[in-house]
Amino acid sequence: MSSKQVVILLGPPGAGKGTQASLLSEKLSLYYFETSKILEQSFKSFKGSDSIEIDGQQYYFQDQSDKWKKGILCDPPFVTYLVKEKLRDLEKRGEDIVLAGSPRTLYEAKKLMPLLEELYGKENIKTVLIEISPEESLARNSKRRICSLMRHPILYNQETKDLSHCPLDGSPLVKREGLDDPAVIKVRWKEYQERTLPIIDYLKANSFNLNKVNGEGSVAKVFERILKTSGLKE
Ligand SMILES: [Zn+2]
Repeated sequence: MSSKQVVILLGPPGAGKGTQASLLSEKLSLYYFETSKILEQSFKSFKGSDSIEIDGQQYYFQDQSDKWKKGILCDPPFVTYLVKEKLRDLEKRGEDIVLAGSPRTLYEAKKLMPLLEELYGKENIKTVLIEISPEESLARNSKRRICSLMRHPILYNQETKDLSHCPLDGSPLVKREGLDDPAVIKVRWKEYQERTLPIIDYLKANSFNLNKVNGEGSVAKVFERILKTSGLKE
């Protein structure tokens, strides 16, 4: 049994999952497993009629990509397939990991958590729910930008509002295409309520280590809360 660890960050759009995952990744040397990046990469490279067959059903990259752009969650079997492939690969390489944005549905949780348990051991899995209000979610998402080179998330605040380039690598800052438009954010919030939140009950019922953290306030403050409640060590 491996003594490597897995941290899973859950929370609504704009909770800062990506930012906190980056921090954990840098401070604790965890591999940042970003589901949206895996999806975006697969949507960049597919050809016209590419598909995957899962349990006798075909999933077309084109359909999944169309859903993604509208703010609707991709079909769970499709996402799970890509994610599981990547997780097995990382475990082989001996990586500690932090996941943000996965599992995103109860279906995914039921497939992923047993795999993670098998690969890493239940006692080495920590889940953290980062909570923010719907108003905060909308406000944060509509102003967020990322850098075009490394996708560094640039949160909106007094210090960053006039920035045009990434302070780390100098690449231009852009909005995430489609995903952070107000109409799409509302869809994402509803999807979160209906499809992601049920994961919490599943985690409790299956005795996974679950921690809740207030996601409002500065990035540094939230990071401190995550370390404290989850018992992670810098
Ligand atoms: Zn950057």
